[in-house]
Amino acid sequence: LVASMREFGTTIFAEMTALAVRTGSINLGQGFPDTDGPDAMLEHAVAAIRAGGNQYPPGPGIPELRQAVAEHRKQHYGLLYDPDGEILVTVGATEAIAASLLALCDTGDEVILFEPYYDSYSAVVALSGAVRRPVPLRPVAGRFTFDPDELRAAVGPRTRAIVVNTPHNPTGTVFTRDELSQIAALCQEHDLIAISDEVYEHLTFDGVEHVPIATLPGMRERTVMISSAGKTFSVTGWKIGWLCAPARLVTAVQTVKQFLTYTAGGPWQVAVAHALREELGWVAGLRDSLAAKRDRLMTGLSAAGFGVYRPAGTYFVQTDIRPLGFADGGELARRLPELAGVVAVPTQVFYDRPELGRHFLRFAFCKRDEIIDEAVARLAHLG
Ligand code: PMP
Ligand code: GLN
Repeated sequence: LVASMREFGTTIFAEMTALAVRTGSINLGQGFPDTDGPDAMLEHAVAAIRAGGNQYPPGPGIPELRQAVAEHRKQHYGLLYDPDGEILVTVGATEAIAASLLALCDTGDEVILFEPYYDSYSAVVALSGAVRRPVPLRPVAGRFTFDPDELRAAVGPRTRAIVVNTPHNPTGTVFTRDELSQIAALCQEHDLIAISDEVYEHLTFDGVEHVPIATLPGMRERTVMISSAGKTFSVTGWKIGWLCAPARLVTAVQTVKQFLTYTAGGPWQVAVAHALREELGWVAGLRDSLAAKRDRLMTGLSAAGFGVYRPAGTYFVQTDIRPLGFADGGELARRLPELAGVVAVPTQVFYDRPELGRHFLRFAFCKRDEIIDEAVARLAHLG
C-alpha cells in the first residue's frame, strides 16, 4: 500500500456492519435505510433492464438524467446548469467527491475539511497529494458549528478548496445562510473552490431549509455541487450520484472520472431520472417519517442516559457518552454488541484530532420503528 494511504485501513462502516452481522446486533451504525424507495422508481429500473438498456451509458450520464438534474436544480434552487457540459453523473456522491478532489487539487495544495467529516474526504485528499486542514465543528448551545476565526486562520497561500457538507454527516447540522456566507466570503477572497456535498439536501427537519452554497452571490462559478440518489430515494446500493459545476470545472473532473469508472450503471440512471421528476412527493413523506424516527430515537437515547444532540437533517443522531460513565466512544462502540446488542459508529474516527470527538457516538435512525424501539429497549440498561 502506498505511504499516503497507510493510515486509512478499513472504513468504520465496513467494520461496524461486519460487527453487527457477526454478533447479531441491531445495526444503527452504517447509514442505510431498511425500507425501499418508491415502487414506480424500482419498476423503471426493472423495465430498463428488460428493455435491454444493459450496455455502457454515455460517460457523462444518460441525457434524460442530466436533464432531470438540471430541472431539479432550477425548480428547487433557481440554479441554472447546462445538462450538456455542466452536469456529470457519477458512481454515487463518493465518486463525485473523489473525482473532484483528484481533478482540482495538486500535490502540496491544501484542502479545508470541517471535522468531524465523512471518511472518504481525507482518504481522497491524501490520494491527490494534497494536505488537509481541519476546522472543528463544536457544539454551541446544542448545535455543532465552526468558529469563524478558526476557519479564517486555516486558509493560507496553498489553500485550494473547502469541502462543505450540509446537511452534515455526522453532526446533523444544517449550515445557515450566515455560516455559508462566511465560507463564501473566504472562497472569494482567496480564490478557493467549494466542493459542496449535499447528499442529504432533502432530509431536513422542523422546516429548516437547506441552502446550497452555489446560490450565494459569486459562488456558482466556484462551486462543485454534489448530490446522490442514495439518500434522496433510499437506494444507497444503486450508487448513482451527480455533480453540477461550471463547464471548466466539469471538464477537469470528467477527465479524471472517465478513468475511474468511465460511466455509472444504466438502468439505475433511467430510474433516477424518473424519480427526480415524479417522486419528490414521496421524498417529502420520507423526510417527515425520518423526522418522527429522529424524535423516537432521541427520546429513547435520552431516557437511556446519553447526552443527545438534535440533528436538523441527515440520518444521524450524535450522542455524548460521558453522562453514562463512559469516556471513549471507540471502546464503547466495540463493546456495545456485547453490552446491549446494538452497533453504533464512534464519531472520533471522523476527526484528524480524535480527542475532539472521543466521547461521541453516532446512531442512525433511518430504520423501521420497531427496530428503533428494540434498539432503545436494549440500550435502556446501559448506564
Ligand atoms: N457524503 C456523505 C456526507 C455521506 O453521508 C455519504 C454516505 N452515503 C456519501 C457522501 C456517499 O454517498 P454515495 O453513497 O452516493 O456515494
Ligand atoms: N454514508 C453512510 C454513513 O455515513 C455510509 C457510507 C458507507 O458505507 N461508505 O453511515
